[in-house]
Amino acid sequence: MPAITREVLRDYLNDALPDDELAAVERALRDSAELRQMLTEVLEQEDRGEHTAGAIWRRERVSCPTRDQLGGYLLGAGDADLLDYIRFHLDEIGCPYCQANLDDLRKMQATSSPKKAKKG
Ligand SMILES: [Zn+2]
Repeated sequence: MPAITREVLRDYLNDALPDDELAAVERALRDSAELRQMLTEVLEQEDRGEHTAGAIWRRERVSCPTRDQLGGYLLGAGDADLLDYIRFHLDEIGCPYCQANLDDLRKMQATSSPKKAKKG
């Protein structure tokens, strides 16, 4: 895997990477705060330009954490790097989809009983 440059991140945002590279970039993003910072910068640049990859990215919800992962984030449970990535996704990227999802989970937690009841 070659070094991840701004060009690669731009392609990533534009969904122009092959699947294996896309997965590698997502893994790298989870592992590296530096890279997440770079992605934020690229997003800002793109938002200023005519491509607005940030908007596309938000719309397409690339690399959104799962609902399970968001639940873990609420509880502060799980892999520290993953929690950091989710925080980045919510706060820096400001993904409206995940914010709504998190809001929903929060309400569910507030109203759920201590017993874990499962349907079925
Ligand atoms: Zn999201």
